[in-house]
Amino acid sequence: MPEVFRFYGGVHPKQEKLARGAAIESAPLLERYTVPLQMHIGAPAKLLVQKDSKILRGQLLAEPGGFVSAPIHSPTSGTIKEVSTCLGVTGTQWPAVIIESDGEDKAADPLPPIADWQNADPEILKKRIAEAGIVGMGGASFPTHVKLSPPPDKPIDTLIINGVECEPCLTADHRLMLESPEQIIKGILIVARILGVKNIFLGIEKNKQDAVEVMMEKAKGTEIRVCPLEVRYPQGAEKQLIYALTKRKVPSGGLPMAIGCVVQNIASTCAIANAVIDGIPLYERVTTVTGTPLVSPGNWHFRVGTLYEDAVRLAGGVKEEPAKIISGGPMMGMSVYSLQIPITKNCSGILLLSPQEVSQYQSKSCIRCGRCNDTCPMQLMPGILSIQIENERFELAETWHVLDCMECGCCSYVCPAGRPLVQHMRRAKTEVIARRQAAAAKKNS
Ligand code: SF4
Ligand code: SF4
Repeated sequence: MPEVFRFYGGVHPKQEKLARGAAIESAPLLERYTVPLQMHIGAPAKLLVQKDSKILRGQLLAEPGGFVSAPIHSPTSGTIKEVSTCLGVTGTQWPAVIIESDGEDKAADPLPPIADWQNADPEILKKRIAEAGIVGMGGASFPTHVKLSPPPDKPIDTLIINGVECEPCLTADHRLMLESPEQIIKGILIVARILGVKNIFLGIEKNKQDAVEVMMEKAKGTEIRVCPLEVRYPQGAEKQLIYALTKRKVPSGGLPMAIGCVVQNIASTCAIANAVIDGIPLYERVTTVTGTPLVSPGNWHFRVGTLYEDAVRLAGGVKEEPAKIISGGPMMGMSVYSLQIPITKNCSGILLLSPQEVSQYQSKSCIRCGRCNDTCPMQLMPGILSIQIENERFELAETWHVLDCMECGCCSYVCPAGRPLVQHMRRAKTEVIARRQAAAAKKNS
């Protein structure tokens, strides 16, 4: 067993994994899907279909708009009813297509399977990942083929697979490890072949002991080292996970590749195996639908474009009116005001909270207790930073590394004054980035 290391800070939120025992089910076919055309970081995908086009499941709806981009595939067969927009998790409108299902769910010809993937050219494997539209499914939605293309001056020697799932309510990755371990192992080995690395870690929090055992068993005979990790949020954050497994520190403003590491999420490795070995592009994913207001929390294979409303209905509907709806987990998820939002490639969870579970920000004055400093995994000083941000002193916030904030929520979680610390950090980051962009535009004009 490799040695593991303790990262600075972190918290122990109550684990409310209501759906941990619920096996993954396939969501039934819907009459309509609302498929956003931007489910990735990077250039928007370019639409290839128009109103009234007939389409098949897995057919290309939109092609990548550049190298840092990803194609979009149809979740079922039917007709393009509308080329329009839809509500996104950020509250803005996203370009989207509305698909009316024909109920037959006819599949397009799959991408040619790469049966001999163990000996395939890494470039061919990478090309397949790109054409299958695979992105980071843990939340970041960064196109995977780009992540697997580090520049020559950034040699990679370590692959880290993130099976931590430290968000207190989510169980999708846990169930995937229990139910599809062979496919995950194949996906990990495909990524390792592309990167040419033999140093491979799979990190899993110890509260998923059954998954640790299954993955250890399936990893036998490979170079994958399964590492049980301390249960401490945010153990699954990229920088903290890298430190825990390698003791390497990602420099401020840098990426894992700067210290020879690539991190991949469990769901992405499964999607990679599906694409390479079975020729199936990414048009569905496992999402946890959970929360005490729901009748039957669970984990489902949802097609992209399924509205949250349909997902909640599948979970039996609500037994009490939720006070809050969150896309993702309670610590890092985005609070949304509508269920008319479609499930995207990076949607790991839909969480409903009851009124008793929602605390209100009080925004009292900071009492200088220092708890936020002790818990910030990035070793920032959230309390002092928040005061500067309230006073619009963004240049000071930038100097004090506000851009290193990963919005994990630990500071807000422990603040006895109920200060909206993450919201302050988000505001400052947006402002600092906007100022940098304006300065760059001025310089280039
Ligand atoms: S949200 Fe940002 S400032 Fe707060 S604890 Fe996390 S990294 Fe630190
Ligand atoms: S935890 Fe809250 S009250 Fe304590 S120092 Fe930080 S911001 Fe101030």
